[in-house]
Amino acid sequence: MKDKIKEIQRSAIEEIAQASDAEALEKARVKYLGRKGLITELFKSMGGVSPADRAEVGKLINSLKETATKAVDEKAPSLSGGRDLKVQKTDITLPGISREIGHRHPISKTIEEICGVFISLGFKVVEGPEIENEHYNFEALNIPLEHPSRDAFDTFYLADKWLLRSHTSPVQARFMEKNKPPFSIVIPGKVYRPDATDASHSFMFHQVEGLVVSDNIKFSDLKGALTLFAKQMFGESTRMRFRPSFFPFTEPSAEVDISCILCSGKEVRDAQGAIHRCSLCGGKGWIEILGAGMVNPKVFKNVGYNPEKVTGFAFGMGVERIAILKYGITDIRMFFENDIRFLRQF
Ligand SMILES: [Zn+2]
Repeated sequence: MKDKIKEIQRSAIEEIAQASDAEALEKARVKYLGRKGLITELFKSMGGVSPADRAEVGKLINSLKETATKAVDEKAPSLSGGRDLKVQKTDITLPGISREIGHRHPISKTIEEICGVFISLGFKVVEGPEIENEHYNFEALNIPLEHPSRDAFDTFYLADKWLLRSHTSPVQARFMEKNKPPFSIVIPGKVYRPDATDASHSFMFHQVEGLVVSDNIKFSDLKGALTLFAKQMFGESTRMRFRPSFFPFTEPSAEVDISCILCSGKEVRDAQGAIHRCSLCGGKGWIEILGAGMVNPKVFKNVGYNPEKVTGFAFGMGVERIAILKYGITDIRMFFENDIRFLRQF
């Protein structure tokens, strides 16, 4: 038995040492250390060893197993082509763990697109604080304390007369105080209103506002700029109309509509000849997209300009409204729920 052990040890060490590649080494390992290997078989034949020799023989076989295992482990790193996981701890052929890379939010994309149209017309992008005071949010824009129009711009009040701006217009006043005309600016940003949240209202939304001031700005300049904007955003065939309206900071003021992007104002009849009412415009053929007007001389006076010398126009639009129309979205809340299934589509 002892001779047999010695013989197996000699041949095992030799075969392991002579293995020229990983495959040969694995063969040798299986031959000696495998489940049916020679060393394993030795353990099984222990039953035939006399009780007196059993301890010594057991020790010898254990030492043989250790020696052979060590020889295999030491030989393995020097051989190439192995797929033995004991040898090659990292399988570089496995696919990596890919990271989810996000992309721009539909609202950010819409803001960039809106601003992009005006940048191409020479406008500069200006931003301002979301926490405002009453002066800039109301008074500087010709919205006195008792004026009923203040209701439309109601907002969330913070301590010490600070508030969350209810429109981006305060940035107009802040900019005009520090800069002299002529200039053309667009102002994107978040605004806040204490509205109950539903499919078309949110307590927080985004606006882009524009302001052009120079010595001879006319209403036709406003129409020209906004017509170009509408065609770039909604397509070349888009028509516009201006409806008289009221804003405290512009005079005259207008609500601006574009021809419906679904039905283009054309009558749609079904097979029976009945008029089909457009779901977007309700059959009116027009959809409102923004408010605009010529800057009220009182606003110029409030920021230290001479209303006899300068004129200007201003406009403002809700970014969510533009995005809803452009992408056919039915619920404003989808923009803020962070549902990946929604966001992935843009
Ligand atoms: Zn329509």
